[in-house]
Amino acid sequence: MTQQTDKTKTDWRKQLTPEQYRILRGKGTEPAFTGKYHECRDVGVYRCAGCGAELFSSDSKFDSGTGWPSFHSPIGEGSVAVAEDDSLLMRRTEVLCANCEGHLGHVFDDGPAPTGKRYCINSASLDLEKRDEPAG
Ligand code: FE
Repeated sequence: MTQQTDKTKTDWRKQLTPEQYRILRGKGTEPAFTGKYHECRDVGVYRCAGCGAELFSSDSKFDSGTGWPSFHSPIGEGSVAVAEDDSLLMRRTEVLCANCEGHLGHVFDDGPAPTGKRYCINSASLDLEKRDEPAG
């Protein structure tokens, strides 16, 4: 996979849907309970909708009740990056794709074991690559 941080705004606009562009490149947020993955229980790997990098495994997904897909861990160390976000008059920690710097969502400290983290991610930033569940 190539680094994609040098893509221009025009490149991204051509590649992404308007909603994906608004969220991934404009740090937007989809309304709760509107995305395609908040209730998804399919097994597989959630990739970045911008660049295809692997971000989260369905193994770490849990039902947070928030209306956004939520994970307790990224798929690998270094697959996501974080940044302080002081917008909306509160301090939050933004989560970004480490490969293309696309905005994914935010991470909070009220998640389940084993990490206690809740990665609250926009469905529009994700692309699930389904894997067949082992039989039995
Ligand atoms: Fe990406």
